[in-house]
Amino acid sequence: MSSGPVIMKFGGTSVGDAEAIGRLVRHIVTARQRGGVVVVVSALSKVTDRLLQLASFAAAGDEAAIQAGVTELEERHARVVREVAHNPEVLLATISRELAELRNLLHAVATLKDASPRTRDAIAAFGELLSSRIVVGACEASGLPAVWADPRRILVTNDTFGAALPLTEETRAAAASELRPALDAHRIPVVGGYVGATVGGVTTTLGRGGSDYSAAIFGAVLEAREIQIWTDVDGMMTADPRVVSETHVVPRLSFEEASELAYFGAKVLHPSTILPAVAKAIPVRILNSRRTEGAGTLITADSPVDEPLAALACKRHVTVVDITSTRMLMAHGFLRRVFEVFERCRTPIDVVCTSEVSISVTIDDDTRLQELTEELSTFADVRVEREMAILCAVGDGLRRDPQLAPRILGSLGQFPLRMVSQAASRRNVTVVLQDAAAAAAMVHLHAAFFARHVAAPAAVEGVA
Ligand code: ADP
Ligand code: ASP
Ligand code: MG
Repeated sequence: MSSGPVIMKFGGTSVGDAEAIGRLVRHIVTARQRGGVVVVVSALSKVTDRLLQLASFAAAGDEAAIQAGVTELEERHARVVREVAHNPEVLLATISRELAELRNLLHAVATLKDASPRTRDAIAAFGELLSSRIVVGACEASGLPAVWADPRRILVTNDTFGAALPLTEETRAAAASELRPALDAHRIPVVGGYVGATVGGVTTTLGRGGSDYSAAIFGAVLEAREIQIWTDVDGMMTADPRVVSETHVVPRLSFEEASELAYFGAKVLHPSTILPAVAKAIPVRILNSRRTEGAGTLITADSPVDEPLAALACKRHVTVVDITSTRMLMAHGFLRRVFEVFERCRTPIDVVCTSEVSISVTIDDDTRLQELTEELSTFADVRVEREMAILCAVGDGLRRDPQLAPRILGSLGQFPLRMVSQAASRRNVTVVLQDAAAAAAMVHLHAAFFARHVAAPAAVEGVA
């Protein structure tokens, strides 16, 4: 096992208020007894939503809404600081300074009436920059040698604002100079997730939910011994707990299973989180920050569990686009042209089903749908169906048991399925159906495959 640090990432609800931050500090105290720790934190819960909303108010020139919004943010952060810090004055001054900067930025946007993705990133970053300072204050109040680390000096990314990609070698070098010395001095670096900067120092973000991804990137470049994702549920559950009430924790998952679940909507993990972990074979563990007991979900290269299916995931409110060739294009020429249009419109496709003359795809992001359909219509008939959902059953067991996929589809007999697909990995069976039917279909499938399942506790070491 690597002797690197443990990366402990705490999501928004785990830093939501003073009580949650108190629990977080106790988890760090426990983990620290086993070796080095790097803490990655999200913004206080709902703060990123609020910041992005303020960016939109600013773009609309609504000065009054900006002023009220920043004041409300200042009050919320100040309240938490007073409750968690021993000497709140210095921290309160730092927070006031940061928020004065935010006010200026929003004012500039309101004057120009324009919030580019670059500006929105600069605004959204304030959430993590503030929360991480508060967590340092709370750690210090408990006698922990925490030190604030600036993610804009560590996580080096490209300039795709709003969905920036990490530049691994640059980040590795920056982490070596910004985080290593603190770790070597037995200190605890606390760094905001989600936020990075370009080589030229312009602030970027990794996209919504990106703090998990930050934690995994830091884990990979520091050769961490484990990446822990502390959140508000007991681990990866057998289905989305907001949809199905009787879910269980999945004790073990393979990297591939976890990736597929995250990609198809299991929000507990950002879809890119597993990638850096795979590269260095670093275990990823999902844990409940509200509890000290429970081993959570352990994600490793291979999962020893023999269950047929690992879990279900769903992606709601997606759009299906049916594209039928109007010309006598050869199939390969047709597919190429279709995919080129999606590429040009920078719209990712999630599920694809195809015949020689027609292709159906699902898209999550429909901001450029108009442009897409116009371009596709130059060589195809296009039909759009909104309010659809993707339902996905994932498990390495699908590779072992050829009867499993037909059983899954058979059990969904009462639901009209619009698309059905099983990708080359043969780790998932994916169906597309009307969104209005998605919750019932998920509950039904869960009852058929997981109802009697009792999760065995994972016999693994290293849980805080
Ligand atoms: P955090 O703020 O800690 O990053 P998120 O809200 O991003 O937390 O992710 C946790 C939420 O993910 C849970 O509260 C749950 O509602 C949702 N979720 C969706 N699918 C799953 C799943 N299969 N297992 C666990 N949680 C899930
Ligand atoms: N605070 C960011 C968001 O809400 C990143 C994260 O929490 O992972 O999207
Ligand atoms: Mg999250």
